[in-house]
Amino acid sequence: MQLNPDALGGTVAKYNESCKGKADGEFGRPLKTLIPLEKGPFYAMKTYPATYNTQGGPRRNGNCQVLDAFGRPIPRLYSGGEMGSFFGWMYNGGGNNAEALVTGKIAGTNVTKEKPWT
Ligand SMILES: Cc1cc2nc3c(=O)[nH]c(=O)nc-3n(C[C@H](O)[C@H](O)[C@H](O)COP(=O)(O)OP(=O)(O)OC[C@H]3O[C@@H](n4cnc5c(N)ncnc54)[C@H](O)[C@@H]3O)c2cc1C
Repeated sequence: MQLNPDALGGTVAKYNESCKGKADGEFGRPLKTLIPLEKGPFYAMKTYPATYNTQGGPRRNGNCQVLDAFGRPIPRLYSGGEMGSFFGWMYNGGGNNAEALVTGKIAGTNVTKEKPWT
């Protein structure tokens, strides 16, 4: 784990104290999760925070045109994938790559139909 053993021991001791005192002053964990780490064997793994999805951004219509605040398409502006996801209000397990593929194709197809500026 490449951790400083003293720091790790100190962290565990502090956590176990929180369990005895029935209050986690450091992270505010719920009481029922305060179970002391006393009897081994223990196993360790590194974990990191990460995000799967952003699921937000501007709204778009079925043509993948980005809409303004009044629901009107903004000329020549399209979006595909997560930027403006149809599922912006929820975590839709497994559907994001499909949405990226489908909306990317729709947006790309419609962009090529736009009249060039020059
Ligand atoms: C660990 C993990 C597991 C996942 N598992 C699944 C799964 O099983 N099924 C599923 O459906 N979805 C899954 N997802 C979600 C899915 O991968 C994403 O929803 C999808 O890739 C989003 O596609 P996108 O094209 O919208 O965005 P992205 O794939 O993020 O593409 C955006 C691109 O824009 C580029 N970019 C950013 N800023 C700029 C800039 N200024 N100029 C030029 N380029 C820029 C980025 O480099 C990137 O290449 C998972 C995501 C993660 C992180």
